[in-house]
Amino acid sequence: MELIMGQDLSKVYQSGEIRVKALKDLNFSIEKGAFVSLVGPSGSGKTTLLNLIGCLDKPSGGRLLVAGMDVSDLGKTDAAVFRGTHIGFIFQSFNLIPILTAYENVEYPLIVVRNIPATRRRKQVEELLAAVGMSDQQNKRPDQLSGGQKQRVAIARALVTHPDLVLADEPTANLDHDTAMSILRLMRKIRDEQETTFVFSTHDNRIIGEAEVIFRIEDGVLKTNGNNGGHGNG
Ligand code: ADP
Ligand code: MG
Repeated sequence: MELIMGQDLSKVYQSGEIRVKALKDLNFSIEKGAFVSLVGPSGSGKTTLLNLIGCLDKPSGGRLLVAGMDVSDLGKTDAAVFRGTHIGFIFQSFNLIPILTAYENVEYPLIVVRNIPATRRRKQVEELLAAVGMSDQQNKRPDQLSGGQKQRVAIARALVTHPDLVLADEPTANLDHDTAMSILRLMRKIRDEQETTFVFSTHDNRIIGEAEVIFRIEDGVLKTNGNNGGHGNG
């Protein structure tokens, strides 16, 4: 089943006299449960595409369906509700709240977005911290954690609301190679267990071996759209 579908999807940024065609008539679909890597050099349009799929910005043309909903023209409030219900985000710079512990960072979306009773909240937070291997670090604040540990907490935070889709914009860019690989394997393990769809961007060719489906984007054009030959190396 398709979770995401783009039809002639385009995005133009206009600032003053300058017009940048960041995405040029993209046609693609992403299956539910897919593990997709969006690969391309800096400036190719990766963030723009993730922002459209994540309803953080609107397309200039074409159609975009996410989880059965046409999100091409959602208003601000509807977009926020849609994001809170369906989408989790992971960022390059982790974006944890510095004054909150790892536990509180993961709990945060359940408090802001959803009105969930305290006991159920605790269960969900503890489950996710265990899934990312951070239970024993849960009382530390971000400045007491390594980059890889922070990204594990960020993954738990993205997943705690049980979204259909997790979007990660260069989630491994600030990590060394081994840590980057372990973060990707962790995301894939969670996908295997929870059937959450993952779309992440990278400009690092060394880590795309962990992906199953690779979208190559160059200068706003989708070049390939296919499978890299199986489920990786476990
Ligand atoms: P990537 O994430 O692959 O590095 P981006 O999606 O950030 O690429 O950018 C794609 C193109 O759109 C680039 O030419 C970039 O300069 C331009 N761009 C991105 N955001 C804006 C913006 N807010 N205003 C104007 N141009 C932008
Ligand atoms: Mg980017």
